[in-house]
Amino acid sequence: MKNIIIFGAPGSGKGTYSDEIVAKYNMGHISTGDVLRGEIKNGTELGKIAKGYIDNGQLIPDELMIDILAKTYDSLPKGQGVIFDGFPRTIAQAEALKKMLSERGDDMGMMIELVVDEETLLARLLNRAIEQGRADDNEVTIKKRFEVYHNQTAPLADWFEKEGIRNTFTWNGTKEAMLADIYACIDKNN
Ligand code: AMP
Repeated sequence: MKNIIIFGAPGSGKGTYSDEIVAKYNMGHISTGDVLRGEIKNGTELGKIAKGYIDNGQLIPDELMIDILAKTYDSLPKGQGVIFDGFPRTIAQAEALKKMLSERGDDMGMMIELVVDEETLLARLLNRAIEQGRADDNEVTIKKRFEVYHNQTAPLADWFEKEGIRNTFTWNGTKEAMLADIYACIDKNN
């Protein structure tokens, strides 16, 4: 299995589709948001640093994130493919991921971009706040996260385009139809 980078705004479904893809293809899964929330829950030093950024809707500094990513990647079984969910979020992270993988004889595989209109994103995140109680799913922090996404993360789509691995999927109203298109893309690229 090739690696997959799942890319999109907060609320675009990265976590939801990752879970489905992981179950279908038996891949490894790195969600940097989940890693950070785990550190916060366990009260680690890293968790204490991360909490300040997450609660404000800001990105954790690149150096720290790149280190966490490499350690998490190295802890996973090899040869099954990994889905990167929530990483990279900046050009520096993308360059670092490419380098880290090539040093290990691996590559980025394919990028799957989820495009969803902002009204739908906001409704999903507010709903998630009720269902999951995530501290950063409140209206003020959500707005900040959208701003960070537009300024720092969205420009990465062109970077992936230049790498020749960008595959874009625009929300079409049902999860099943989105998944069918995504699976077809994964199968074609493997
Ligand atoms: P997520 O669960 O992917 O929405 O991430 C939640 C929060 O964790 C983000 O708003 C950031 O504060 C932080 N975070 C997750 N992944 C990254 C990353 N690759 N770079 C910087 N910050 C991150």
